[in-house]
Amino acid sequence: MKKPRFWTPWFIENSRIPIWLSKVAPIEINAITLGPLVISRSKMGEKTKRHETIHFQQYLELGFVGFWFLYLWDYFKGFLKYGDGAMAYYNIRFEMEAYKYDTDEDYLEVRKRYKWWSMKEDNDGNNKINRV
Ligand SMILES: [Zn+2]
Repeated sequence: MKKPRFWTPWFIENSRIPIWLSKVAPIEINAITLGPLVISRSKMGEKTKRHETIHFQQYLELGFVGFWFLYLWDYFKGFLKYGDGAMAYYNIRFEMEAYKYDTDEDYLEVRKRYKWWSMKEDNDGNNKINRV
């Protein structure tokens, strides 16, 4: 993976933590960013590392509490709107940024701070692999 402009998180692979968290989450979690740690149930590809590094950049902008407050706020707002956990998840603004750009190899080099702020609700939730 190309180096982001700022810091990179630590990647932890082959962990059971995403499996446990999937039991209480509305989606099957393959990888999750928790503060500076990216924890994955298997070996991570470039796309997953990029997706999670985008979340890490979002953490740097809001802090752990700010990130999760807005993450859950968007989730519950989406759940009321769509009545569907997966749809609500794909319309969290942090996920919209991460899914939109996780295939773009250059994104982390050119990403603007607080990019998620301007993301519009336009994900349809199709053909996605779950990376929280
Ligand atoms: Zn994500």
